[in-house]
Amino acid sequence: MPTEKAIQEAKTFRDKISTVDKNSGKRLWVFAKKPFGKLTNLRTYVSWVYLILFFATPFIKINGNPLLLLNVVEAKFSIFGIMFWPQDFFIFGLGMLIFLTFIILFTLVFGRVFCGWVCPQTIFMEMVFRKIEYLIEGDMGAQKVLDKQAWNTEKIVKKGIKHIVFFVLSFLIANTFLSYILGIETMQNMITHPGKNIGVLIGLLIFTCVFYGVYAYVREIVCTNICPYGRLQGVLLDKNSIVVAYDYIRGETRGKFSKNREESMGDCIDCNQCVDVCPTGIDIRNGTQMECVNCTACIDACNHMMDKVGYDQGLIRYASEHSIANKVKLKASTRIKVFSAILLLLVGIMSFTLASRKDIGATIMRTQGKLYYELPDGIIANLYSLKLQNKTNKDMEIRLATKSKNARIRMIGDDHPIMPKESKKAYTFFIDCEASKIKKRKTTMDIIIMANGKESRTVSAKFIGPMHID
Ligand code: SF4
Ligand code: SF4
Repeated sequence: MPTEKAIQEAKTFRDKISTVDKNSGKRLWVFAKKPFGKLTNLRTYVSWVYLILFFATPFIKINGNPLLLLNVVEAKFSIFGIMFWPQDFFIFGLGMLIFLTFIILFTLVFGRVFCGWVCPQTIFMEMVFRKIEYLIEGDMGAQKVLDKQAWNTEKIVKKGIKHIVFFVLSFLIANTFLSYILGIETMQNMITHPGKNIGVLIGLLIFTCVFYGVYAYVREIVCTNICPYGRLQGVLLDKNSIVVAYDYIRGETRGKFSKNREESMGDCIDCNQCVDVCPTGIDIRNGTQMECVNCTACIDACNHMMDKVGYDQGLIRYASEHSIANKVKLKASTRIKVFSAILLLLVGIMSFTLASRKDIGATIMRTQGKLYYELPDGIIANLYSLKLQNKTNKDMEIRLATKSKNARIRMIGDDHPIMPKESKKAYTFFIDCEASKIKKRKTTMDIIIMANGKESRTVSAKFIGPMHID
């Protein structure tokens, strides 16, 4: 039978926050027990790959462009080595729409899997900073003892070392984080000439303090109170979403394990291991909660206890509310298949948009003034202005051509101008056409823009002939 205390707790858990003292209102520090098990190991491997990618990416270049650069200061962005400019805002708009739809669908189907496996906050907190804490201060019990004891030499040394390591790591993370915004060259320049880059240095120190504050003090509050994605879980999840869930049908009625355990009791032996390992300090047996970051620590802890007492694993597992309530196995339902297909489609659209993006931005406009010019030898000419943007990091030799056999392009100034990398330029040119070959007053002409001898893109321009035609 469940204890009176358990019954009362189950009834009132929503009346309080597990990390806030009911009487004083002060924060209760979460001393999470060190998790271990299959999923923890798997998450550790994922975190290694993640950390390698995080620290290495700013150094990786594709065609001379950074693999990923989000320079909001100069409005310069590079994704997979493709440079984006403010003029490409529609791709960003589309990207944002796809991203938002992706998040909604993904969360609807897979719940908060992202938070547990790849969110930078969870990865750094659980896989880096907390592991260092275990190394220096020991597991949950030792940490509690250390916290309560007076400030003796042991406590000063352990806490001192921990905070120095935390600060140095935060400094490294801040350097890498800023490399994604300002570019690796700016950061290298700042490191070699700090005096000439005071602004960057101050920014670096501010971010170092922010990261240090987050990982040393704020911790799970980022996930439970600050993160907007976490706040959205209440509206994004439904009964079919896959979450880390306690099988209350199987687990209840909970009670301590003993030889004389009643047959009617559930499989939960009320060992509290799932609560002890939880980095956000919640009891998953109370049902899906916004504080759960799906870190899977409770799954491993419970599986370990189930093994110990000889029960089947999976009392806490990835499952949907529906599958638990109806005692059915979680399987790929039509909903999961359809949403997954839409997710794939969205990724496909975004990839295609990125791949088909042009290296040159171009706008052609007829110049104001005369509609057309009559030249000797029966030639009619229209004057245009062309605005080009070289979006690459290489200089380009520009040439214009037209597909029309009867027309010829005549640049004003240099015939083959050179456009410097990452620059914008305006050019003026004529389209000349033999009057006898003009069949309509308004003709649409395709202008081919060649960059370094290769056809880069085609834009249309209206050619206007004399009034008497038509
Ligand atoms: S309830 Fe389980 S999965 Fe959720 S945060 Fe706590 S330990 Fe992680
Ligand atoms: S770890 Fe499993 S058995 Fe122990 S209290 Fe949690 S749910 Fe019950």
